[in-house]
Amino acid sequence: MTTDLGVEPTPLALLLLGRQSDPASERGTACPGELPPASDPDLVDRARAAKDALGERLFILGHHYQRDEVIQFADVTGDSFKLARDAAARPGAEYVVFCGVHFMAESADILTGAHQQVVLPDLAAGCSMADMASAEQVAEAWDVLTDAGLAGDTVPVSYMNSSAAIKGFTGRNGGTICTSSNAEVALRWALGKGQRVLFLPDQHLGRNTAVGRLGLSLDDCVVYDPRKPAGGLSVEQLRDATMVLWKGHCSVHGRFSLECVHDVRRRLPDVQVLVHPECRHEVVGAADLVGSTEFIIKTIEAAPAGSTWAIGTELNLVSRLAKAHPDKTIVFLDKTVCFCSTMNRIDLPHLVWALESLVDGRVVNRIEVDPRTAADARKALDQMLALPAR
Ligand code: SF4
Repeated sequence: MTTDLGVEPTPLALLLLGRQSDPASERGTACPGELPPASDPDLVDRARAAKDALGERLFILGHHYQRDEVIQFADVTGDSFKLARDAAARPGAEYVVFCGVHFMAESADILTGAHQQVVLPDLAAGCSMADMASAEQVAEAWDVLTDAGLAGDTVPVSYMNSSAAIKGFTGRNGGTICTSSNAEVALRWALGKGQRVLFLPDQHLGRNTAVGRLGLSLDDCVVYDPRKPAGGLSVEQLRDATMVLWKGHCSVHGRFSLECVHDVRRRLPDVQVLVHPECRHEVVGAADLVGSTEFIIKTIEAAPAGSTWAIGTELNLVSRLAKAHPDKTIVFLDKTVCFCSTMNRIDLPHLVWALESLVDGRVVNRIEVDPRTAADARKALDQMLALPAR
């Protein structure tokens, strides 16, 4: 079977889409309650009823990469930072249900008031990229820079897609958070303040921004591998680098290859290739346009009827864009299915379970950042907000 987007679903992808069942699929998931079965035909009505019962006390956030079955209940949709800000702008909402992944719910908790409780419907919805930089590993890297006498003129810049602990480290050490929309401004700010940047945790966003936007060369970048002693780098390499890139990546965007770009150009000669900056450097270099999720959405909205696009980002979003713009040809850049599997953990049964628990007065799967980490992380987030607009 091939879909309209030209991709071939695998059994795993179908499972993640909820079109097949696996009795062991909840294995390892901390879900302290009875989930309704995915086959329950009343799930949509149950979600709607619970949402109506909670009224203004509830605010549901839906990330662009979420499934349609969940997105239909979102009060707002957006990327991770927009959603956290949207939550902060709704102080009247007692419960913020975040349909996204763990680091996003943490950011919402940091930015919302103490009276607001943030809920992640499935605690197994993590982010493989965020998990690639633990607090201990980053503290060790900072020790390496300190011992080399380089920490004083190194500024940490952490992507929004990082844990609260990493955001806290960034705030404690005078750095800033960035998103894929403002990474260029963040790097210019940081390099105006110090000699080099420690960029966490996505090496691709760091490299693509430094080389593609700031005009640095690939030789100005080194990759710090947390699994190797001293990151696998000599003191000289660290000293000479402008960008110390953490060896992390997004398992979804990292799958797109140069061959995918060549292949789609062969199949669709008029195609324009539009990719996210979390893709590998050679893919970004071969694309026609590169930009954040919001940029991708706006580009497609503004594109003329009859134009043809191959998009390199998460498949739920690409499918939704294709449905919303039937006057344009929109295909997925890869030939195989590429969902964010952790985003897909948030499905209708988990949402119904979380909402009905709230109706019963039980707050389940609450995400709470400890006050000290939250205060440090807030400094780094505030620094991002203080960055000049582009
Ligand atoms: S798409 Fe990539 S960066 Fe985003 S949540 Fe999934 S794994 Fe993390």
